[in-house]
Amino acid sequence: MAEVRVAEHAGACYGVERALELAWGAVDSSDDDICTLGPLIHNPRVVSSLDAMGAHVVDRVEDAAGRTLILRTHGVTPDEERRARELCPKVIDATCPFVKRVHVEVERLTRDGYEVVIVGEAGHPEVVATLGHAPSAHIISNALEVPYARLGNRVGVVVQTTQKREILDAVVEAIRAQGVEPIVKDTICTATRERQDETAQLAEAVDAMVVLGGHNSSNTTRLTEICAARCERTFHVESPAELSAEWFEGCDVVGVTAGASTPEDQIAALVAVLEQL
Ligand code: SF4
Repeated sequence: MAEVRVAEHAGACYGVERALELAWGAVDSSDDDICTLGPLIHNPRVVSSLDAMGAHVVDRVEDAAGRTLILRTHGVTPDEERRARELCPKVIDATCPFVKRVHVEVERLTRDGYEVVIVGEAGHPEVVATLGHAPSAHIISNALEVPYARLGNRVGVVVQTTQKREILDAVVEAIRAQGVEPIVKDTICTATRERQDETAQLAEAVDAMVVLGGHNSSNTTRLTEICAARCERTFHVESPAELSAEWFEGCDVVGVTAGASTPEDQIAALVAVLEQL
């Protein structure tokens, strides 16, 4: 049986814990139907347990009309928030404060006359919400896309809170290579930074890495990429049921990390299974 080492800051971050407390509080204190606009966090197991408690996912603000609506950690566009406040008797804003900071930065850059670049994944809910705060912004996911954006000479850069620093640095370098010195607002959140740095160190010191978190979670996917670049045997799972003993044959030390939307009890359950393999 291999030794199991867990990254110190693995698991639920400040923004996710805050959102869960708001949601649990809403469910406990209300007999009314409660909705979340999209999944509250990118963890399907937590989302289905919230559903069982009475907090149901809706895809559109209109589907929550007349009910309490929780705005999820990834944030919403200004238009969605306006419609939510018009249609719902109670709106609980669980947007992570680090995501709100990105909204403030893009609005400020736009006001100051900068062309805004959002370094992130097009279509990710956080990026969609941020784009709502700066509709003419360019979304750039990697340095190769920079020439296609046809940027002017007054450029401001923000970054999706869960992005990898190397991607931000490469995009900024590619903009500089076009003769433009951008203003850069590094909006990668503290939780992401800590988890990525620790995960990189751990992945270099073990024989196999297990990354626990939603397959739809951006920050978990980034952790998996970081591990895979340093540890050949890297596995991204959403639950302990996906583990296979064969993966760890011949391993002396197995590392565990977890995405920012993974609660502590899910990590403990994974470690318990790993220790029995
Ligand atoms: S990963 Fe960062 S931005 Fe996202 S919810 Fe957690 S603290 Fe907030």
